Amino acid sequence: MSCFEIVDPRFETFVLGNAPVKQLATGFDWTEGPVWFGDAGCLLFSDIPNNRIMRWTPEAGAAVYRQPSNYANGHTRDREGRLISCEHGLRRVTRTEYDGSLTVLADAFEGKPLNSPNDVVVKSDGTVWFTDPHYGIMTNYEGFKSEQELPCNVYRVDPATGAIAAVLTDFNCPNGLAFSPDESRLYVADTGRMFRGDPRHIRVFDVADDLTLTDGGVFHTIDPGAADGFRVDTDGNLWSSAADGVHCIDPAGRLLGKVLVPELVSNVCFGGRAKHRLFITATTSIYSVALNRQGVQKP
Ligand code: MG
Repeated sequence: MSCFEIVDPRFETFVLGNAPVKQLATGFDWTEGPVWFGDAGCLLFSDIPNNRIMRWTPEAGAAVYRQPSNYANGHTRDREGRLISCEHGLRRVTRTEYDGSLTVLADAFEGKPLNSPNDVVVKSDGTVWFTDPHYGIMTNYEGFKSEQELPCNVYRVDPATGAIAAVLTDFNCPNGLAFSPDESRLYVADTGRMFRGDPRHIRVFDVADDLTLTDGGVFHTIDPGAADGFRVDTDGNLWSSAADGVHCIDPAGRLLGKVLVPELVSNVCFGGRAKHRLFITATTSIYSVALNRQGVQKP
């Protein structure tokens, strides 16, 4: 059975007919937040309900990297290569320093605690952009059931000054986010409150030089499933989570094809020698597939 579903002929050149979608490790409860460390030759990812961050290497497989992880969810790296993490448990965004200590980048807005930061991206100017839905405080499964004190906003924090701004305030539940390769666009998923009829789409915003955002409307609606997390390749195509795998969406918002995965996908990242390998977090497992594409994320 093919691992791919071709919707648009262009997708045929993106995938490799003989490359398997390979399960790399399994036995987790809800994997999320994959981030590639080429310098260390490893993938880090969250196993949220088990309160741990895992490290996978081709040589040794998966082992615990950090436990407890404060129910960490999404991760990325800043321009200096440091790990940036969203933590449900302590309702904050942290940076792991080179010596292993944690620096809190954001844990409150206007004097109120954040909800449960979910996913994060760093712009080339060093600013850290993250989503703050309430999923991690709704139950005790992925954090601690707590009172919600803030709307589910998207924030930008400047680590140099600590200044935090609510940059998008009209979301139901913002989730995955990514910049286009030239950072002129910001994509943000809205995965709703899981009620029937709630949004499960990706919205697009134009990013001005002064970082103000202009709403470009709904970019794409994932079906089946939701755009929990996604990354962008060097040509600006989005590779997004979906219920049946990973969907590839071109910069015009058209579905080009799918990487079929046998579990519900939460998130992806590019990694490997040439950033040509897509790592996929999917419920109890992680998978990867080599592509004829390259991820845009730096480092
Ligand atoms: Mg997410």
